[in-house]
This record gives sequence, structure tokens and C-alpha cells, in this order.
Amino acid sequence: MFAWGMRWDGQGVSVDDGALPGLQRIGLVRSVRTPAFEGITFHEVLCKSALNKIPAASMLPFRYTVNGYRGCSHACRYCFARPTHEYLEFDCGRDFDTQVVVKTNVADVLRRELRRPSWMRETVALGTNTDPYQRAEGRYALMPGIIGALTDSGTGFSILTKGTLLRRDLPLLVEAAHRVDVSVAVSLAVGDPDLHSQVEPGTPTPQARLGLISAIRDAGLGCHVMVAPVLPGLTDSEEHLDDLLSRIAAAGATSVTVFGLHLRGSTRGWFMDWLAQTHPALVGEYRRLYRRGAYLPADYRAMLQRRVAPLVARYRLAPDRRSFREQAPPPQVAPTAAVQPMLF
Ligand code: SF4
Repeated sequence: MFAWGMRWDGQGVSVDDGALPGLQRIGLVRSVRTPAFEGITFHEVLCKSALNKIPAASMLPFRYTVNGYRGCSHACRYCFARPTHEYLEFDCGRDFDTQVVVKTNVADVLRRELRRPSWMRETVALGTNTDPYQRAEGRYALMPGIIGALTDSGTGFSILTKGTLLRRDLPLLVEAAHRVDVSVAVSLAVGDPDLHSQVEPGTPTPQARLGLISAIRDAGLGCHVMVAPVLPGLTDSEEHLDDLLSRIAAAGATSVTVFGLHLRGSTRGWFMDWLAQTHPALVGEYRRLYRRGAYLPADYRAMLQRRVAPLVARYRLAPDRRSFREQAPPPQVAPTAAVQPMLF
């Protein structure tokens, strides 16, 4: 955690005039705090590029991502993106949750990149590193511009979120789905409200996310649900999975993916500290499960799939059938008006 000198004025917005070298490297314009987002500092940057290319060796089903934010106030203890904050000279713990980098020009830069003749309109994944509908999106509204840029260029996209703010953009997503492939997924793996407030303290409640699933379906879009990460000893009982999958099915989800927790890099220490404080009896079991590395052992993964398969069948939830293929050439249509980020 770093100390950040703040000055409060006028409407309660403060601007900092110092900057960490890591932030200067990525185009810091200013750092601001506002009472509406207590405890959170937004670092507004002008990014030079928006599309990130995933290394070819990656096992991921998409090759391009866009992330308008770095850091995430959803603050999930297990978040695998935490170590990325260390490149900015922040720590992977509280800083990741409270020092949020905002690429205020991301939609304009993306629009420019998508105009390149070399762009093959491969599916772009949103929400792979930080949540595009975390609370900051209510203030900066980056997503309408990103959705508009992708749609106008004929590029299909997928969204993965825990954020109920996505409801705001449902009309835009429905319109986009008439022109390009759009895939929407909600992440929901903790059904117990007490555990949710411990392990995903900045996220909307499980009930609110079930409501989001229903709203997505009511809008006429499919809704995949990522039941991940399943936490050994906390959310992997047949009882918890049965209850959660039945509620996900009742909310109208079209398909689910279920997999267990990965613990890698500095996230491991941040998660294990939390586990030692809140569930000390499980520490030994986690050490045993993750003694060989970031992934759960094969026998645990096989056990989880055996437990989940009959439940997925019982609730008639399909496996992930989303496609991440290239798009056909775009039709000639008038561009959607670019939406400027709302700074205040
Ligand atoms: S919502 Fe996603 S990106 Fe945000 S903290 Fe949780 S796991 Fe990380």
C-alpha cells in the first residue's frame, strides 16, 4: 500500500499532483478521489493502445481483449489479476482494490485500432482481466463507447462480469447483437451471502447477480454463467452447488462452466492470509491441495466434475457453447455516435 497525498475541494473531488513512476509510464493525467467512492482513488490515464493481443501459446479461446480499467473495486480475494498491479508499483492487495486506473480515452483509441486494414475482426473479450462493470463504470461509462466501436467495426465480442451495472447497457447490447456476435456471461460462484461478503466484498450480492441473469435473458440475450472459482471446503459441497445451480437455472441462465480455484503468484499470499484469518481450519487442506502449484490436483478436479455433471443435467444447463470465431465483413452502416467518457 502506498501513501497518497490528497487535497479536497469544491464538489469534493481532489486532484493529486504527484505520481508513481509506474503510472507516469502509462500516461497518467491526474489522480482523483470523490466522496461517492470512499476509499478509492481513480488514476485517469490516456492510453496509447486499447486492443491487447493474447500470446499464441495461451489456452484461452480468444486472442484479443480490451480492459478499460486496471485494478478492481470488486476486491475478490482470489482475483488472478492482482499481480498485474505490481507493474504499476502498487501492491496486489488493498491497492488492487482501491487504486483503479481508468483509460479515459480507451473507446477512441479502440475505434482507431479497429479501422486498420489488418484488423480481421476476431472476437474481442471484455472482462478478462478486470471487471468492465465494476463501480467505476458508473462514473466513467467507458463501456458504451467500447461496445459502439466494436459493433461499428463488425467485431463480435464477449463480456464477463459480476457487475449489475451491465443492466444500463442492455439496450445497446441488444442493438449490437443484431449486427455482430455478442456473448454475455455473469460470474457467480458463491451463493452463501455471508461468505460472499467475506470473499467478494465489493461485488453485487448473489441475489442481485441472479437478477442480472434474468434481466439479460428478458432482454432476449443468452446468458452464460461462470460458476468459478469453486473454493475447496467452502463452496464445493454438493449441497452448495445444488442450491446455486438450481437458482442459476431458475434465473434463466442458458449455460454454465464450473471450475475450481487457481492460486498463483502474489494472489496466493493475499488469499491465504484471508483464509488464515477467516477459516483457519482450512489452511492445512489448501496447503496440501496447492502444494504442487497454482492448479488443483487432477483427482480433485475429477471429483468436482463428477459432482457437478448430474446437477448440470438435472437443471438442464448446457455447457459453454459460445463461439469466438472471426466475423464476416461488416455491412456498410452508419456509425453509432461515439460516447464520451463521463468524467464527472
Ligand atoms: S470481479 Fe473479477 S476482476 Fe474484479 S476483483 Fe473480482 S475476480 Fe478480479
